Amino acid sequence: MATLDLENICKSFGPAKVLHDIDLAIRDKEFVVFVGPSGCGKSTLLRIIAGLEEATDGRIVIEGRDVSREDPVDRGISMVFQSYALYPHLTVFENIAFPLRVQKMTQQDVNQRVNRAAEILQLTDKLTLKPGQLSGGQRQRVAIGRSIVREPKVFLFDEPLSNLDAALRGDMRVELSQLHRELNATMVYVTHDQVEAMTMADRIVVLNGGRVEQFGSPMELYHHPATKFVAGFIGQPN
Ligand code: ADP
Ligand code: MG
Repeated sequence: MATLDLENICKSFGPAKVLHDIDLAIRDKEFVVFVGPSGCGKSTLLRIIAGLEEATDGRIVIEGRDVSREDPVDRGISMVFQSYALYPHLTVFENIAFPLRVQKMTQQDVNQRVNRAAEILQLTDKLTLKPGQLSGGQRQRVAIGRSIVREPKVFLFDEPLSNLDAALRGDMRVELSQLHRELNATMVYVTHDQVEAMTMADRIVVLNGGRVEQFGSPMELYHHPATKFVAGFIGQPN
């Protein structure tokens, strides 16, 4: 069970208010996509959920527990970033194992978790290679593997595919949807790409200027857009 409730989240940077009263109830095992134009507050909201940024007001509640004051590592949340910073001098195995080394986990447990993640991500035959020997898609999978081994309850993705070319992006969309089914985890995925949102999401949150325009299934948004903005954004060809 990992429900994620965002309760009246507000965020200001100095005089600039970038998030206005974000109030969303995300269900257990749901794949929710936050979509909206550049600068609308997507990354800021994700960073607040992860605990990398503090909200000016409001609460983050996971499985009914208020985690707003908890350290990022205690929240049971893992974030995959846009620019996947792998360690070039470490093998794929050690890159994936890295968060477990920090936790001082036993070698046996490390082996078990890394091998399981590699299996899910089809990296089993790449574990002894270095990041420089991998394709862009494989490198992105290593970054995701690093999240999986921590066995988080909630995964956060901030535009994880935006550095990949169009063909690879399509493949990775399918892979991430499969990953969601296999891991049975709650996932929050940020993108500015409507196609990604429409094809991957159980439900979509459309953000504009730090406000929620609509929260609903792709079909609801498509057939019953709540605002002109949603209609334009979803209908707009990519
Ligand atoms: P998105 O991810 O949707 O492109 P961001 O969350 O990165 O948008 O940014 C939302 C707004 O907040 C932007 O106007 C941005 O300039 C501003 N912002 C983000 N981080 C900071 C910061 N650390 N200090 C000041 N302003 C910031
Ligand atoms: Mg962003």
